[in-house]
Amino acid sequence: MINFKHNTIALRILTVFLVSFTVNKKHLCSNHPSITSTNSPHLSLHSSLVEMVFDGHLSFENIEHTAKDFGGRYRFMPSAVLYPKSVSDISSIVKHIFQMGETTELTVAARGHGHSFEGQAQAHGGVVINMESLRVPEMSFHTGKLPYVDVSAGELWINILHESLKHGLAPKSWTDYLHLTVGGTLSVAGISGQAFQHGPQIDNVYQLQVVTGTGEVVTCSEEQNSDLFHAILGGLGQFGIITQARIALEPAPKKVKWIRALYSDFAVFSKDQEHLISSENSFNYIEGFVIINRTGLLNNWRTSFSSKDPVQANQFTSEGRVLFCLEVAKYFNLEDSDHIDKDIDTLLSDLNYVQSTLFLSEVSYVDFLDRVHVSELKLREKGLWEVPHPWLNLLIPRSSIHQFTQEVFGNILTDTSNGPVLIYPVNKSRWKNGTSMVTPEEDVFYLVAFLSSALPSSTGKDGLEYILTQHKRILNFCGRSNLGIKQYLPHYSTREEWKAHFGTFWEVFSQRKSIYDPLAILAPGQRIFHKQRHLDDDDLKSLRSVNRVLEAHR
Ligand code: FAD
Repeated sequence: MINFKHNTIALRILTVFLVSFTVNKKHLCSNHPSITSTNSPHLSLHSSLVEMVFDGHLSFENIEHTAKDFGGRYRFMPSAVLYPKSVSDISSIVKHIFQMGETTELTVAARGHGHSFEGQAQAHGGVVINMESLRVPEMSFHTGKLPYVDVSAGELWINILHESLKHGLAPKSWTDYLHLTVGGTLSVAGISGQAFQHGPQIDNVYQLQVVTGTGEVVTCSEEQNSDLFHAILGGLGQFGIITQARIALEPAPKKVKWIRALYSDFAVFSKDQEHLISSENSFNYIEGFVIINRTGLLNNWRTSFSSKDPVQANQFTSEGRVLFCLEVAKYFNLEDSDHIDKDIDTLLSDLNYVQSTLFLSEVSYVDFLDRVHVSELKLREKGLWEVPHPWLNLLIPRSSIHQFTQEVFGNILTDTSNGPVLIYPVNKSRWKNGTSMVTPEEDVFYLVAFLSSALPSSTGKDGLEYILTQHKRILNFCGRSNLGIKQYLPHYSTREEWKAHFGTFWEVFSQRKSIYDPLAILAPGQRIFHKQRHLDDDDLKSLRSVNRVLEAHR
């Protein structure tokens, strides 16, 4: 019999036990493609938080949307969602939960635009903070020799672009898609075709304001609280909630020459890419992608581009080969119009693409940077945006990239990739040291991104199960062959895997966790550290009673 005096605690523990059993059971089904838990284990949360006063508000209802993300595979229901209107709202709730100590498993997840893939911005039974409702400070621009803008961390990059253009300025380093928040991308790195020159977005920040896992509000930069500054950048949300960021700006160009050209030989393609990222005078953006198209028909990759040689280009077919498309862009202003084409011809003259496959387009700077949004709108129209996205992003050292492409595009992904596959090198020597992001230990490494979409009900080659198996094969190959890769936007389920990911940096990473978020309250969806609930004597007595009940029912 459960002791009547401990009934409530026992019930709570039983719920925790049953819920975690359900979740763990699902984790154990390794073939299960999606993981859902809608029950909340924290029955006491409501009473503990309901009396708090916020400038914004805390909601216990209509919160299901925060148990979803772009990946579409993980669904963990929080107990409440905070819509903050001030930094002190965020600090108060974190401090409150911190002060509850180890009597609760409550955690807090900052949610940017929810464009993670594996539940990273979710908090099972905890509190999700909707960062987009934090609108302080209003964007404030500082022009001068080193221009910058102070923004709220919940701001979308697309809004920063539009506002900074009014001052003739723009951030230097981007992601391919701009409908993501500042806090969301600074927590991972933020890599795109400008990273070879400027480093990722985390290298282009002067200062941050952060709420740590104890609820303290701290300003940090290279000069002030620099350990926290470095920890936060690329820190997967583990050390604090970014509330404000000072982003470096540069004069913005008006126009962009956007160029694509094909290669049928990876060795030639990668040699040209590496040449371009190491040249002093080069393009402003350098990426590339793989075209796996066994039918020989080539379509999407050149939509809205014009060919330099239309007759020959139309005759070009893939003949069943895997092709590699170089994608580069040169920024310019109207006053450069008389020499920009000549400059581009000079840069292209060093390259060895298939001559008939050069395609050009001229677009505004905004249209170039916001290009993925155009695809988003088209996919939304067809109902193909809100489907599962099992994405896999890898950083591959230059010394392994040939072995990697041979196996992956020769044996594993033979007839379809179910979405774009990006492949481009970056120059680590132009990246800053000391952030939390881990990369391969070579000066040049490639980002290879498998951006797959799955058809929800399909059990075929376009279904989730099949795509996940392909990704597993790719990862197994990398592990077996010791390619020295790192995952970007990493996702692991065991401590051992996380330790292997961070390598020698693990000690620093976990020490910083114990300093800045000692109870492991923040970003539980990354599944690196787990908040432990300390059971007191009453809890233990009740747990023993629960065990006896369960034993009796076995
Ligand atoms: P969320 O998904 O909401 O959060 C991500 C993580 O950061 C969570 O752990 C969350 O708790 C934490 N977090 C959020 N806000 C804060 C904060 N203020 N303080 C502390 N922690 C916080 N990435 C690239 O690098 N380059 C690309 O080109 C690129 N393209 C993409 C295109 C698309 C269509 C999508 C969906 C994603 C792309 N990404 C790219 C990945 C993207 O950068 C990450 O998934 C990013 O974390 C998403 O930002 P978000 O605002 O949606 O963050």
